[in-house]
Amino acid sequence: MTGTGVNNEHTCSEDYASAAGMTSIYRKLAPEKNSGLTQKSNPSIINCKDIFNAANRGNETAKEALNSIPLIPCTTCNYCAKVCPMEIGISGSFTARNIYTLFGDLERAKMQEAWLVGGHARKQAAACIRCGRCEQACPQHIKIRDELAEIAELFGQKA
Ligand code: SF4
Ligand code: SF4
Repeated sequence: MTGTGVNNEHTCSEDYASAAGMTSIYRKLAPEKNSGLTQKSNPSIINCKDIFNAANRGNETAKEALNSIPLIPCTTCNYCAKVCPMEIGISGSFTARNIYTLFGDLERAKMQEAWLVGGHARKQAAACIRCGRCEQACPQHIKIRDELAEIAELFGQKA
């Protein structure tokens, strides 16, 4: 899968990913022979990278399962960043949000947000003034303002 800005070098368990949709992917793919998936000694552990790789190789089950996850389809082109008067870390916020969607780990997502946004001298989602310039620039037609508002609430940010 491309375009979500998510580092897929990650190993997750069914429990860990239960809120994130990875469980259903695991259950769909694990029984498949020749799927190329790496199952460790613990059958509830699966390498998420293998799921992405299976999808990239054309495994339809993997593609379908990944496409069913409601990721923000940000390609990190950063056209939005060039027009944002508040210097919001839009793509970094979306990457962090997608990590939470995939892995259900809020602390990990917040750490990513801290690095990708604050660590790159960008402002947090909560500082958005909803001017809408970013949405006019976004080739993915993402509802950036609404996504940022949701992220600000999820991550407990203060304006
Ligand atoms: S709506 Fe928010 S994120 Fe978009 S350009 Fe305006 S201040 Fe920046
Ligand atoms: S313009 Fe759209 S796709 Fe590009 S970085 Fe911004 S939100 Fe992501």
